[in-house]
Amino acid sequence: MNVAELKERLLKLVDVFEEKEELLTELDRAIGDGDHGVNMVRGFKALPDNIDDSSMQSLLKSTGMTLMSNIGGASGPLYGFSFVKMSQVVSDEIDRSNLQALLKTFSEAIAQRGKVTLNEKTMYDVIERANQAIQEDESLTRETLQSYADLTKDIEATKGRAAYFKKDSLGHVDPGAQSSVYILNALIGDDS
Ligand code: ADP
Ligand code: MG
Repeated sequence: MNVAELKERLLKLVDVFEEKEELLTELDRAIGDGDHGVNMVRGFKALPDNIDDSSMQSLLKSTGMTLMSNIGGASGPLYGFSFVKMSQVVSDEIDRSNLQALLKTFSEAIAQRGKVTLNEKTMYDVIERANQAIQEDESLTRETLQSYADLTKDIEATKGRAAYFKKDSLGHVDPGAQSSVYILNALIGDDS
């Protein structure tokens, strides 16, 4: 994947988030404050005016900075920081081995910034499982990514706003886990 291809995938995400805004709002209303849909749309809407496609590194860095200052909430800094971190390991052309480096960095960035581990009902559950699959050289479809997000249903939240809901958080997919399905699908999916 080259800069132009990745740029197109990132810019297309605003359409995905507009289509899924209501779903993310509902998920976040159940175990949060209901702003995750609006947050993600606002973040990706800001991309066209702020993206720098002069190199692969600038593309990911400018995306990270834009997401950091426009998404807001807990998820903005997490996604933003991750893209900035990925800009430090990306190569001019993303091949399989670079994709492994990118996913490893994405996952480590969330773990570090969010102080989160697996099965705490967050976006990390999806990002780390995707990372593991990519390291094993498995192909990742949107369905597989969705199955990772669906696993968060049966977990009681211990991080972020959802933790206040304690046992009431059971039975609901985590909103950040759901939004990370779309982001990961754009980065790695064959059907994005
Ligand atoms: P806020 O919770 O501030 O309203 P958002 O609604 O935009 O922010 O994002 C909520 C999502 O952020 C959660 O669904 C969860 O996936 C993610 N999240 C929150 N805190 C953490 C954390 N410490 N580590 C990883 N992800 C987190
Ligand atoms: Mg929220």
